[in-house]
Amino acid sequence: MSANRKAAVIGAGIAGSSAALGLLDAGFEVTLYSDKSRKALRDDVPATGTAIYFGKPSQEADAQIIENLYGEESFTDGFSVRGYNPDKTPLLSFDVDFRYFRAQAVDPRLRADDRIGRFIERGGTFITEEVNSDKLDIIAGKNDLTLVATGKGGLIDIFEIDKSRTVYSEPQRYLLTVNIAGLPYDSKAFDYRSKVGWKHNLFTSNEEQGEIFVGGILHKDIGHSWSILGFATPKSDWRRRFEEADDAASALRIFNEIFRDYFPEDAKEIAKFTLIESDPHSWLKGAVTPHVRKAVGFTKSGKPVAALGDSAIIFDPIAGQGAQNVSIQAAALVKAAKEHKGAFDAEWITRQFDAHWANHGYGATEATRLYLGDAKYADHLKALFPAAAVNERAGSAFFRFQSEPSLILNLQTKEAIERYIENETGERFDELIKRFKPAEKFKGRE
Ligand SMILES: Cc1cc2nc3c(=O)[nH]c(=O)nc-3n(C[C@H](O)[C@H](O)[C@H](O)COP(=O)(O)OP(=O)(O)OC[C@H]3O[C@@H](n4cnc5c(N)ncnc54)[C@H](O)[C@@H]3O)c2cc1C
Repeated sequence: MSANRKAAVIGAGIAGSSAALGLLDAGFEVTLYSDKSRKALRDDVPATGTAIYFGKPSQEADAQIIENLYGEESFTDGFSVRGYNPDKTPLLSFDVDFRYFRAQAVDPRLRADDRIGRFIERGGTFITEEVNSDKLDIIAGKNDLTLVATGKGGLIDIFEIDKSRTVYSEPQRYLLTVNIAGLPYDSKAFDYRSKVGWKHNLFTSNEEQGEIFVGGILHKDIGHSWSILGFATPKSDWRRRFEEADDAASALRIFNEIFRDYFPEDAKEIAKFTLIESDPHSWLKGAVTPHVRKAVGFTKSGKPVAALGDSAIIFDPIAGQGAQNVSIQAAALVKAAKEHKGAFDAEWITRQFDAHWANHGYGATEATRLYLGDAKYADHLKALFPAAAVNERAGSAFFRFQSEPSLILNLQTKEAIERYIENETGERFDELIKRFKPAEKFKGRE
């Protein structure tokens, strides 16, 4: 280990702050550049996303950078799912434990702030400065390794889009999200849907309009809070409604109206949510086109720099893969950099990303296609959803892809997914599927 190796990280979101802390602890002299001050990153911007770590792999990778600082506060352990037909009639429901892991939901602004704090405490240099391409060239010249983690913007254009790994050319969902309070974390929250109250997140869908996630998340100011996250299909009524949001209050109002009009059984419980007064940035709207970039880019004078986090792969958030991908990519990159003896050249950077892609990135993009209902996975969903409605273990098997997305790579055919369901449930698929009957009525809050 050479104590004098230098690394620079551009961007101090969850990716940049994790990599900077990890590299520092690995013996590098590290400078972290951020276009916003530490305080502004925490208090003046919305969270990049809900950033739930659904999986054991992502939580174990994150623990290589920093231990769990948030105790048992925000672990959920299952999902209550309700699906509705386009005409708003009930289709199916299931309420299942994950069985394989717990999901941890912590405001990514808090996660990043804690990492930056520890990074500074341990001797890292934090510089508030927007890095442009001229400055990047100078930084890369002074450092042995330079990572670009500027999220979906900033410097990412120096990384070419990798067409061979990119599937979509337009957004698959339009997003609206708001962080709110008003319901305690207890067994009564949504108890008409879930046997364990707040411990199960809710996933509610209308086949034509899209999906809505509701779940607990530890907020940076108030601790226990909730996130509502809506995914509208491109031509839907929901998308038109989402576009009207212009602050947290209007976002919450829009969700109240959607629940009233589409999922009336939940409307009374949703109406209990209140705004988080200390956080005017508790909402977000927009759309992302999922894509993958080449992991190595070159500065003006030809120095190689590496893409990390959203700057390398952008996922549609429906399967909750972006932040999990960050933690796995960052931990692997830090470990490889610590062990590497030679130059951090373009070949080394590409090799690390190819290994990450094979180990995790490719599976995470394919699992996201599954949850998006991509035509490639139509047979999978036709098997998984009705199976989950009649057998709890099939429901857990469906959510296992959030934690271990690469499993899907070996389950590419209709036969393979049916065998997977059989293995997970211990039942013959044809016997199991015969029991499925569409739901007639859903229970609501009395
Ligand atoms: C609605 C939504 C829900 C989500 N839910 C989940 C989920 O449940 N689970 C999950 O795993 N993932 C989820 N994600 C994805 C996850 O939030 C992101 O993948 C993750 O937060 C990305 O972190 P990042 O550090 O790469 O990018 P960012 O958080 O965008 O950080 C980039 C930083 O770089 C800074 N910067 C930009 N340009 C410059 C510059 N020129 N110089 C210096 N600094 C610069 C920015 O200010 C910013 O602070 C969700 C995403 C969305 C949108």
